[in-house]
Amino acid sequence: MVLADLGRKINTALVDLTKAPVVDEKVLDALLRDICAALLASDVNVMLVQRLRNNVKKSVNLNELGGGANRKRVIQKAVMDQLYELVDPGVQPYKPIKHKANVFMMVGLQGAGKTTTCTKLASFYQRKGWKTALVCADTFRAGAFDQLKQNATKAKIPYYGSYTETDPVAIAQEGVDKFKADKFEIIIVDTSGRHKQEAELFEEMKQISAAVEPDSTIFVMDGTIGQAADGQARAFKEAANFGSIIMTKMDGHAKGGGAISAVAATDSPIVFIGTGEHLHDLDRFEPKSFVRKMLG
Ligand code: GDP
Repeated sequence: MVLADLGRKINTALVDLTKAPVVDEKVLDALLRDICAALLASDVNVMLVQRLRNNVKKSVNLNELGGGANRKRVIQKAVMDQLYELVDPGVQPYKPIKHKANVFMMVGLQGAGKTTTCTKLASFYQRKGWKTALVCADTFRAGAFDQLKQNATKAKIPYYGSYTETDPVAIAQEGVDKFKADKFEIIIVDTSGRHKQEAELFEEMKQISAAVEPDSTIFVMDGTIGQAADGQARAFKEAANFGSIIMTKMDGHAKGGGAISAVAATDSPIVFIGTGEHLHDLDRFEPKSFVRKMLG
């Protein structure tokens, strides 16, 4: 079930609640059944769905609540609080510091949208007045440097890369050193991906990370992958110890469950979501407004 449908289903369940003449245990159970079924159909991890259900039940004590309107309000608030909690690990992401070099290292599988996201992120900071640059340390995918160069040129962002150097660690190091010397404040390093999680990729990420010592490592994840999100996010967390997540392709057929599972599996906050292929299609992620928007 895609994100918009998930929102609609939950919304309908909540509207049904407001229409119920009496609110008893049966009505509450029916509401939770509908919401949980929608979350499961969107590939949210079953343990998380169970937790949501139990937490709502725990925080709503029908015997202690007064009349119908009050009961409905309490139940609605309990459901909303749990939905927020699903996408909010309660961890603050790295905040760049002005007049200092802040190095971001981007990791993720090939095709996730890493290169596109690097330029979007660079452009975001540049528009906010930060002196921003891009480093292409993806020597694995043919054409990666050209793609980054093209995007960066269009967005008027300085970049560094090489057609001849094949060692991604050397390029990353050179690029970061160069931009640090030139007093850049945001330096975004694009690394290579692979089609699947594999030892070679994880080793390369570790080496680049040791060389450039990023202030923030960001995991770029395809928002459309559903069930696989949990395992993929865990594997990258273990190998790259990323601090935050950017979820891409949330404009198309993203189920949303992937995003929710990735946050829960790694206790890492989503900082942005990609909402299209263009430079400006990057939205800051805020748990409450994300949930409210999803519910329409
Ligand atoms: P990389 O291999 O991880 O560097 O992936 P790319 O940056 O080359 O992106 C792979 C494809 O996903 C490209 O066709 C991008 O235009 C597309 N893409 C990236 N982010 C988004 C997004 O947020 N929404 C949509 N619809 N497409 C995206």
